[in-house]
Amino acid sequence: MLGLMQEWPLLCHKILDHAGIQHPHREIVSRSVEGPIVRTTYAELRGRALKVAQRLEKEGYKRGDRIATLAWNTARHIEAWYGIMGIGAVYHTLNPRLFPEQIVWIMNNAEDKALFVDLTFLPLVEKIAALVPTLRQVIVMTDAAHMPQTSLRNAVPYEEWLAEADGDFRWKALDESEAAGMCYTSGTTGEPKGVVYSHRSNVLHAMMACMPDAMGISSRDVILPVVPMFHANAWGIAQSAPMIGAKLVMPGGRMDGASIYELLDTEKVSFTAAVPTVWLMLLQHLEETGKKLPYLKKVVIGGSACPRMMAKKFQDNYDVEVVHAWGMTEMSPLGSLCTMKPDYAGLEGEARLDIEEKQGHAPFGVEMIVTDDHNRPQPWDGKTFGRLKVRGPAVARAYYGGAGKEQFDEEGWFDTGDVAHIDPNGYMQITDRAKDVIKSGGEWISTIELENLAVSHPDVAEAAVIGVRHSKWDERPLLVVVRKPGREPGKADILGFMKDKVAKWWLPDDVAFVDEIPHTATGKIQKTTLRKQFSDYRLPTDETERLPDRETL
Ligand code: ADP
Repeated sequence: MLGLMQEWPLLCHKILDHAGIQHPHREIVSRSVEGPIVRTTYAELRGRALKVAQRLEKEGYKRGDRIATLAWNTARHIEAWYGIMGIGAVYHTLNPRLFPEQIVWIMNNAEDKALFVDLTFLPLVEKIAALVPTLRQVIVMTDAAHMPQTSLRNAVPYEEWLAEADGDFRWKALDESEAAGMCYTSGTTGEPKGVVYSHRSNVLHAMMACMPDAMGISSRDVILPVVPMFHANAWGIAQSAPMIGAKLVMPGGRMDGASIYELLDTEKVSFTAAVPTVWLMLLQHLEETGKKLPYLKKVVIGGSACPRMMAKKFQDNYDVEVVHAWGMTEMSPLGSLCTMKPDYAGLEGEARLDIEEKQGHAPFGVEMIVTDDHNRPQPWDGKTFGRLKVRGPAVARAYYGGAGKEQFDEEGWFDTGDVAHIDPNGYMQITDRAKDVIKSGGEWISTIELENLAVSHPDVAEAAVIGVRHSKWDERPLLVVVRKPGREPGKADILGFMKDKVAKWWLPDDVAFVDEIPHTATGKIQKTTLRKQFSDYRLPTDETERLPDRETL
């Protein structure tokens, strides 16, 4: 017997229709790439997205065509996304922080037919466009007055291009399983892999994100997604914010502490989300200027581990709730959020911070297990770590073109490549990436835990831990440190500080001081480069003759 309820396909444009009808006057404020702050509303944004769709259709773009965007977080970028999805085409976000040759590789792999680009990245596109034979058109997200001279023959200014449409258009009737968007993982190991979101997965993910124990956002919120739309879908905010009618504040290309503070303050932002590096810059700005955060209620921190001192400063000094979150491009991207279940809700001070160091629990729509190398599920004891695997309606079931098959098993589990443990209350904690974990004498050492501890030393600006070949133990940890300006902590200071806080055999064998730690395009520590840099490093604890390092084997 079938249910007798309506078939109402979960299509992304329904989100924008809802925002336009239920929250027509709610604002979207953007720091434009041209400079000034510009304001629009959900009703206007919906109207312009319909024009984008109409215009794309007129140009001959069809269902399933991949249409790339190389752009900052602005209202224009959102309306382009919805316009693309509204004809059944597929928005494909490109990360401008990748090397040009990686962008070319990704565009060719996706066979992008058109590209929406911000002025900032036009010089880059001029260099690479000829290397992407499928690319028919470049739409420059500005108006004729700001349109620069360009060597591209097929470039048009967005506003004039859009003005040719009257907006009298109906979204295409699509199947909810059709592709809506595409994003490549940054490929810090091997070739980038394409993740293809469907309308259904985007809508379900947005609903999941809004739930009180996930992001917990509502129409009363003013949301500033600092996390870029080109990095894992801005954590779904371009869909979850219109779904609930929150005001959106889009930071454009300026993400330094002072610029972000200005928006937080003038627009009275209540909710924001970004990777830890962004929050380090903001906290530094606040400390230098003595400013406060009177309007901000909640900050979601993820993408890499939220250092304990960061959570503490937001909560103790600025009265802002921190939600530590974990996810990945393949999960649309949210996987877990560290909001407090009743058992932990009463905790305060250090005990609360202990929990907030965890990446949190899975919302409805994410199933999670941890297995050993033989695929056996591990107990939820908060100690036993293993490979973290996930399933759900917004989790990838394959990569585009069939890459990375080994990460998917026949029971539908996706191997995240992360190493984690889960506690009896369901709180997951990442201890490492599988490829970074240090195997010392057959036991695993978590580099993330050591890094978190090292950065809580008052003189340490940034820290990374890598495994260095050791003739007796296979690998031992080396701590690489960037000192804070004007501070001169020595090896003994730092190891002395860490000594009583971790198991003795976890303590790094040595500390190397550097001016800079290499980062990936998404702001994470680039351990492959670091391991290469230290491939000849000899630990003072290693007394026998050296074997070749694992990177050079
Ligand atoms: P990439 O790093 O390739 O750009 P993603 O942005 O999708 O890809 O990153 C996903 C990875 O980032 C996760 O698999 C995990 O290793 C790491 N990550 C995300 N959030 C956290 C977090 N809160 N703590 C630790 N690691 C995290």
